Amino acid sequence: MFTFKQPILQLLKMKKYYFYCIIFVIISSTLSAQNLSNTEKKIITSIENNNAEAISFLKEVVNINSGTMNPKGVKRVGMVFKEAFDEIDFNTSWIEMPKDMNRSGHLFAETSGNKGKKLLLIGHLDTVFEADSPFQEFKMVNDSIAHAPGGNDMKGGDVIVLYALKALHENGLLNDAQIIVAYTGDEESTGKPLSISRKDLVNAAKRSDIALGFENSTGFNYATVARRGSSGWKLEVTGKRAHSSGIFNERVGAGAIFEMSRILNDFYTKVKGEEYLTFNPGVLLGGTFTDLDAMTSKGNAFGKSNVVAQTAVVKGGLRFISEEQKENARAKMREIIANNLPQTSAKITFTDSYPAMGPTEGNKNLLNILNTVSLDLNQGEVHAYDPGKRGAADTSFVAEYVDCLDGLGTMGSGAHTPKETVNLKTFEALTKRAAILIYRLINQ
Ligand SMILES: [Zn+2]
Repeated sequence: MFTFKQPILQLLKMKKYYFYCIIFVIISSTLSAQNLSNTEKKIITSIENNNAEAISFLKEVVNINSGTMNPKGVKRVGMVFKEAFDEIDFNTSWIEMPKDMNRSGHLFAETSGNKGKKLLLIGHLDTVFEADSPFQEFKMVNDSIAHAPGGNDMKGGDVIVLYALKALHENGLLNDAQIIVAYTGDEESTGKPLSISRKDLVNAAKRSDIALGFENSTGFNYATVARRGSSGWKLEVTGKRAHSSGIFNERVGAGAIFEMSRILNDFYTKVKGEEYLTFNPGVLLGGTFTDLDAMTSKGNAFGKSNVVAQTAVVKGGLRFISEEQKENARAKMREIIANNLPQTSAKITFTDSYPAMGPTEGNKNLLNILNTVSLDLNQGEVHAYDPGKRGAADTSFVAEYVDCLDGLGTMGSGAHTPKETVNLKTFEALTKRAAILIYRLINQ
């Protein structure tokens, strides 16, 4: 007769098997238990109870157009969030931008206190889809994906912040914590000058220890500890206008187009190469006369094959991982510019746009904390995303004042295109991760 006794006894004799059994039990019990405190488990329950409401809130704000150049729409979205933050006892304010800036304004919501880390949570209310875009509506594609303008970049992230804080509020966990929520109204096309449009954000950072950015996620198991800065450059070259038969002689020289070609080739061969440093000439005009419109980036050129070019102009961009890298690249460019071909001269001007957010120890430490939160939630490890692949965002403006972590928002695809989607299946999990991270930081 077959019994279970015999094989079990046999197995128990096998010490190795016994050992693996114990390891298995330990691993599986820690996995199923989740390393959360009782308070943290209450936060999780609140998030689960509120998730359906969070998604209908997202639908509501997506269906209000808030293209950056639609200030009224941006403010309407801001007011919907304002009311929601008022309900969870945040002090809210709408900060108008000056009329001639043609930007809406920013929503700030704040709790005050002294315990733990002081947090700045960053989002933006505007999207790239203007009022005349055909893409205006939140529509479910299947049971987990919604086709939604700005749903992923980044109204989804804004809603994650709201519902993470709502869960903390419901459990009375925001008392004596300083949290500033800053939702800008012009992230997709920042108002100029930056000294005005980013003043309130920078001031909030100066009163905080840590900034968390909820821009769309670059993958469920990735967060942003560094992102490159971006800036612009304009190169103008002048040559001697003359009959082409005289080119190369002492009096006429090389002409503006040859000099421009030399400079660009030297940029390519002598400045290119450092990790995370890229620069791109985006538009080029050359001839007897050129006319490049700075606003539209459109222009005209006139020239003849029998006339030595008198002028050439290039407009380009430069991306960098640190101020030092930016300055070094600019110095090399200036040096190349100065080494002119005969009878030509060149001038380069640089403009600052987004500063870099470097991969500091403080930022990496925040990633470690997030990683532990994620593991404790059984959501897997979280790694640093390649800074070379991530575009610039509002966290960059505060990176010099606080430790930063970004990319904590929703998952999705096709941001900035008419195919933008937001993944609602991971929405609840990401809200839990954000809430536990915030909870642990304000109790640190
Ligand atoms: Zn964005």
